[in-house]
Amino acid sequence: MTASQSLFERAKQLIPGGVNSPVRAFRSVGGAPFFTKKASGATITDADDRELIDFVCTWGPAIHGHDNPVIREAIAHALENGTSFGTPNPYEVEMAELIVEMVPSVEKVRMVNSGTEATMSAIRLARGYTRRDKIVKFSGCYHGHVDSLLIKAGSGALTLGNPDSAGIPGSFAEETIVLPYNDATAVEEAFAKYPEQIACIILEPYPANVGLIMPRSGYLQKLRDLCAQNGAVLIFDEVMTGFRVSAGGVQEREGVTPDLTTLGKIIGGGLPVGAFGGKAEIMDQLAPLGPVYQAGTLSGNPLAMAAGIAALKLLRDSDAYTRLEKMGAQIAEALRVKAAEIGLPLQVPQVASMFCVYFSDMPVTNFEEATASDTASFAPFFHKCLERGVYLPPSAYETCFISTAHEQGAIDRACETVSAALEEVR
Ligand SMILES: *Cc1c(COP(=O)(O)O)cnc(C)c1O
Repeated sequence: MTASQSLFERAKQLIPGGVNSPVRAFRSVGGAPFFTKKASGATITDADDRELIDFVCTWGPAIHGHDNPVIREAIAHALENGTSFGTPNPYEVEMAELIVEMVPSVEKVRMVNSGTEATMSAIRLARGYTRRDKIVKFSGCYHGHVDSLLIKAGSGALTLGNPDSAGIPGSFAEETIVLPYNDATAVEEAFAKYPEQIACIILEPYPANVGLIMPRSGYLQKLRDLCAQNGAVLIFDEVMTGFRVSAGGVQEREGVTPDLTTLGKIIGGGLPVGAFGGKAEIMDQLAPLGPVYQAGTLSGNPLAMAAGIAALKLLRDSDAYTRLEKMGAQIAEALRVKAAEIGLPLQVPQVASMFCVYFSDMPVTNFEEATASDTASFAPFFHKCLERGVYLPPSAYETCFISTAHEQGAIDRACETVSAALEEVR
């Protein structure tokens, strides 16, 4: 038995499924997960001393790779002064200044401890601000495990959502209207059907938890206009895309201004951090100024703020995005070229340092098309890559990430590896 296998056996006795977050269990690709004992730069070292080139990057946060020296130094420096104060601290002010400077639509911001907390709070705020109950989300968009957001596909436009998870009361789900992504007409119809009842639309502007889907031209602006016309709050969930696709996220790339934005992942520099922010008029509805309650014992934690500030400054003050975009394009192109050469139907959406692989002969524009792709081919592809030392996300519906710590040599090796794996699974 390997060290990872023996750890997993012990973990399964004590932790449900042996993991603290379900997708880590490798259920959708089969086999047992490896345990990581350390990670540095673009390399993960597992419990059996195997070295892997990492394209999961801790599911998005590690845009500077693992154990970045500047971030480590920032944490060490903060640590000298204590780990938590329960009073305001100077780091929180600097963090807020950075976010407001970098994310175009954010005038005021509040820090929380995870992406889930950010979306949960943003929805409560939108409801409190509009004094309306219903929310619109899109099938295939993931917003953390918030009750009212853990709802996927109804049978079509205007179908009220069914709970995706056990334990969510049907009465909660009734307040969530689930629509197909990339279909503006469905949104128009929802506003017509529920006049003055919809508090907000929340979406991943580039859905990246069902592979990677790009918005049709004009779609995001159309959502912006519909929300303005109907008095609803537009929430961009940029927990994954924020600081990932550009310093200002999708809203900067696409030039569309949401009312509220949720952030997480990269913003913590590898520590647990989330944030939500937006128009001052809406944010000022939060306690202690306004009637919408929201709080957190460890929110604005000095270590987490120090790590996040260092991570954001590294992005602001470098040409990171240019390099990341180049590496993303290189891998995507290698996959496309190989697929064409061997006659394998493959879609490789890519934006900046995010890419994914759909075994499909048609471009994927929504959740239904994503789930209609040949997901069974993903598992062998994943395992062929892993055998050769390249770690991709262990699910057909996750996005691959590249970090600034990926050297050209690692990218070249990954291109060879994914190409060879495609040939074997064909
Ligand atoms: C990861 C993610 C979340 C949830 O963040 P957690 O920190 O895991 O709670 C929410 N929204 C999006 C778009 C995400 O990718």
